[in-house]
Amino acid sequence: MARRKKIYEGKAKILYEGPEPGTIVQYFKDDATAFNAEKKDVIDGKGVLNNRLSEFFMTGLNQIGVPTHFIRRLNMREQLVRNCEIVPLEIIVRNYAAGTMSKRLGIAEGTQLPRPIVEYCYKDDALGDPLVTEEHIAAFGWASQQDMDDILSLALRVNDFMSGMMLAVGIRLVDFKIEIGRVYDGDFQRLIVADEISPDSCRLWDIETGQKLDKDVFRRDLGSLTDAYSEVARRLGVLPKSNVAKPTLIN
Ligand code: C5P
Repeated sequence: MARRKKIYEGKAKILYEGPEPGTIVQYFKDDATAFNAEKKDVIDGKGVLNNRLSEFFMTGLNQIGVPTHFIRRLNMREQLVRNCEIVPLEIIVRNYAAGTMSKRLGIAEGTQLPRPIVEYCYKDDALGDPLVTEEHIAAFGWASQQDMDDILSLALRVNDFMSGMMLAVGIRLVDFKIEIGRVYDGDFQRLIVADEISPDSCRLWDIETGQKLDKDVFRRDLGSLTDAYSEVARRLGVLPKSNVAKPTLIN
């Protein structure tokens, strides 16, 4: 059997050449990293959970007309996605203050923001993904003004969808990060949601108890990451009951 071609290996995923032109196989690893890979571990089953959860969110987005790169899930750890050119920005949407925003602006974690706030970071691990403004993005040509209008509208639609999905299962969507890809349909360029949407890239807090059900459990040593992600999957009905570990959250 021919060996498939690895295109890229990141901190949490590997990308392989897909079976048809214009496609990529996205493999979800069990590796967890935080603070720009200063903290690392292998968390059994994380890749499987993120593959299923990202499939769930991307499928829902496709169904409501928010275009994503997701085509179909291939197996427990892999999904087929559209090959796209990633815009070199991390798009962060915040509904409540937390993480770097709380640190930077001195706002207590959990403070509701007057409206969703969108931030942009330049994707560069060596620089620690610095926060940038639309001025930097325009001046350095990372995205055009039209792209930025489309990116803002995609980000806010993802926020509405994800906030609603989470609210329905008693979870608050505090913030999240998405990445955007360019695809070409003939002469036209379109922007689509790419990469992944999972508890690795969102902050999810139980509405009743405030328990963290996202990667902060790993970042801040708050207990079992797979228990937290399994709880999100269980509430959304993403995993069959037999696959779900009984949650033993301690945070
Ligand atoms: O760290 P910070 O507070 O800026 O993160 C905001 C949101 O973006 C969090 O949900 C975090 O998980 C996500 N994020 C990410 N990848 C990064 C930086 C942030 O998924 N490189």
